[in-house]
Amino acid sequence: MNDQNLMEKIVSLAKRRGFVFPGSEIYGGLAGTFDYGPMGVLLKENIENLWLRMFRDDRDDMYGVDATILMNPKVWEASGHVAGFSDPLVECKKCHVRERPDILIARVHVGKALMLPADSSKQFELLKKEKIPCPIGGEHEWAEPRQFNMMFRTHAGAMEDESAVVYLRPETAGGIFMNYKNVIDSIHPKLPFGIAQIGKAFRNEIAPRDFIFRLRELSQMEVEYFVKPSEWQQAFEEWRKMMHLFAEAVGLPNGMVHELEVPDGDRAHYSKRTIDFEFDYPFGRKELWGLAYRTDFDLSAHQKGSGVSLEYLDEETKEKFVPHVIEPSLGVDRTVLAVLASAYREDDLGGETRTYLALSPKVAPVKAMVAPLLKNKPELVEKAREVREALKKVHPAIAWDDNGNVGKRYRRQDEIGTPFCITIDFDTLGENPELLDTVTLRHRDTGEQERLTVADVAERIKSAVA
Ligand code: ATP
Repeated sequence: MNDQNLMEKIVSLAKRRGFVFPGSEIYGGLAGTFDYGPMGVLLKENIENLWLRMFRDDRDDMYGVDATILMNPKVWEASGHVAGFSDPLVECKKCHVRERPDILIARVHVGKALMLPADSSKQFELLKKEKIPCPIGGEHEWAEPRQFNMMFRTHAGAMEDESAVVYLRPETAGGIFMNYKNVIDSIHPKLPFGIAQIGKAFRNEIAPRDFIFRLRELSQMEVEYFVKPSEWQQAFEEWRKMMHLFAEAVGLPNGMVHELEVPDGDRAHYSKRTIDFEFDYPFGRKELWGLAYRTDFDLSAHQKGSGVSLEYLDEETKEKFVPHVIEPSLGVDRTVLAVLASAYREDDLGGETRTYLALSPKVAPVKAMVAPLLKNKPELVEKAREVREALKKVHPAIAWDDNGNVGKRYRRQDEIGTPFCITIDFDTLGENPELLDTVTLRHRDTGEQERLTVADVAERIKSAVA
């Protein structure tokens, strides 16, 4: 299967099985927006809950906040986003289409090695030198690059003038910095401590693409971890390890996640060190998550901008200083895509080609499916419902599917990545007394079946999803 093909299959399965739908689809969609369907919501929530557990709840030094998307615009002035959160764009002089120079260059170099200069004016030189054509009209007359701010602007209240401008947050981090002082004043944590938040962020990306990889409305799972300036390296290493552990926990194969030390000149304006965690997506190796050392850039800028002291008082040494910050920033949607892409499988089972998602049981939307062998036998249906109720005590995501024959039910569950299917038959009811109260447990990846008691099945599910 070539990679283009694989991507098409993932997008198609995501739609067919209720994971991800194009946003506002019946009106022709809206670029850069996708909605999560019934299965996608469960997958996404499982990923988010795992993150909350590992990054917040299992630690004694982490706290949560849920800040607003709309904030005082001064937040984004101080953070540098009003001035600097932009992409360089070139415009075709003929048809006026706008595009990032690096994207235009990459388009004509697909599959060829290319050292792309980081600087947009150097990219522009290359664009002219290689006579790179406009993807619409084919001309190669480009105007000088201009900066295009990626923040969405809107107006708060009835006035639509400049004084009413507010931004949709481009990262959730801003809401965390706004609550740093509130958390200190209400909870009194000692350094080092961190604040975690999951929420929506908005970026007016020039070219949203690659399904849910580059969106205009996205979700982020972010931590701002506050440390003494001298202790940033230790914290950086700690979170670096944690990110690898999280990749493993959601089921991303080790060999598909790579670190990239982002060189000087390519880092965001606030960062002194950044490691991009890249993933081998079907369309190439691309950024999955980022880990940044943001220094005291944000807190100092907000202290200056607001006139409110954001210094931390060390009770022991009586020293006052602005803490430094380590930021693990993880995109939810890019994680969902990486999980789907690495779990997609096609194989031959019993002489038939089948598609399945080899999802980790921890993130699988449905943990097990229960069904009676025949749906027109009330005694089987009743017993199957009883078994399902018992298993629901272990985990709520236990599905019921009595449509069609057993083979078809298995195929449906395989496509949504359900690790276990349980069938209740006449032996369960005691037709063969030795098998009374046992069920057939079928394993997704191998198609193998075994006969177990309901209590054993419950144990299996419990240990798989823990
Ligand atoms: P890129 O270079 O791919 O544009 P970035 O470096 O701007 O990404 P960050 O600002 O570091 O991204 O954002 C943190 C995380 O948020 C990213 O690692 C990614 O997981 C996610 N993210 C950023 N932009 C998008 C987007 N447009 N769509 C989906 N997820 C995104």
